[in-house]
Amino acid sequence: SLYEPPDVPKPRYVRVNTLKLDVDSAVNELAKLFTVHKDDLVPDLLILPPGVDLHDHPLVTSGSVFLQGKASSMVAVALGPQPGWEELGIPGVVLDACSAPGNKTVHLSALMKGKGKIVACELNRDRVKLLQNTVRAAGANSILVLSDLSFTTVVLIGSSHTCVKLCSESNGTTDVEVHHGDFLDINPNDPTYSKFRAILLDPSCSGSGTAAQRLDHLLPSHKYLLASIKENQAGASDIIRQTKLASFQKKALEHALSCKNFIMTFQFSDSLDLEVSTWVMSWKFQSCLCITGRYFPACNRSWSMKFAVPSVERIVYSTCSIHQIENEDVIKSVLPLASKNGFELATPFPQWHRRGLPVFEGSQHVLRTDPVEEKEGFFIALFVRKNKDEEQPD
Ligand code: SAM
Repeated sequence: SLYEPPDVPKPRYVRVNTLKLDVDSAVNELAKLFTVHKDDLVPDLLILPPGVDLHDHPLVTSGSVFLQGKASSMVAVALGPQPGWEELGIPGVVLDACSAPGNKTVHLSALMKGKGKIVACELNRDRVKLLQNTVRAAGANSILVLSDLSFTTVVLIGSSHTCVKLCSESNGTTDVEVHHGDFLDINPNDPTYSKFRAILLDPSCSGSGTAAQRLDHLLPSHKYLLASIKENQAGASDIIRQTKLASFQKKALEHALSCKNFIMTFQFSDSLDLEVSTWVMSWKFQSCLCITGRYFPACNRSWSMKFAVPSVERIVYSTCSIHQIENEDVIKSVLPLASKNGFELATPFPQWHRRGLPVFEGSQHVLRTDPVEEKEGFFIALFVRKNKDEEQPD
């Protein structure tokens, strides 16, 4: 028979929510009941024996530990958000573009150690509630922003020809800003985008990688065989659905990749009414921040200054699908745009053995997990901006 039961029972994984509990305390608590190991790839991930049911465990019900699989936990780590992105007290912002129910949102928040900010965008109103519940359970502070796509404060400086729109308005205590809206409505040509240092894009997908997990007693143990069998057997409606999903996934990834570096020119002259400033501008090369205060520059002549505002540097695209059409095909189709906008594929978890199907040049950079061997079939691609100081062409 093509279908063989998996040979070895697979371990359970749980992710310690370090916003609430440190890893060693979680290990000590769980070790009272089970054998516990730390995962060697994903920080804060613990390995428990197969078949363990933790749904009612106080660590889970209190939000100190999340029942999150290894593959799913690799996504936020692959993005690599840095607490150090915070500058002058203003947090670096990560956009979780398609975020509900929010497992990866709160993982990002934990990785940023409370020093960053996440804008979690979700289109579906009911799922926004799920997202808020997850954020609440994880102990991250959150605010809900309804249909307001302008995440920025507009600062007008100087005369009519000098209009600068800056990233600012940070609420230092807010970890997660839940935004009910369409990611595709965020205009990548708006300097507002420069607020985001990284984007996690985990769009709607067929879920075939985790459906396989639920049917694992039926799965073949051969790598990717299930995918090819499923693709061959897929009915017309499955193919239409996958094609529609792939079309959205491509559009969403192109949207994420469309963010540019902005070169801003500031022009000052003694004709400016700079006392209008309840704002202080502080600048340094490649960086642009705006903080509240007063500014009275000793500026007796015209001068100008030009610099790049940091924009999105890292983008992770992930699905829990095993289908090539939602994974490698999507990546292959956006490569020309990625290259035009200064992005290239990087290699998340280079030590991981299972890479992309070899259907395009560079497929070794992307990562797959197998629904049989790793219990979840995930796909992860990481784009990194090559020359983040350069202005991007239109
Ligand atoms: N990353 C989430 C997690 O780990 O918990 C799972 C995300 S789920 C695969 C995809 C989500 O994207 C769904 O909740 C869906 O409603 C949302 N979505 C779909 N299209 C969207 C769009 N255009 N803008 C924002 N969210 C969207």
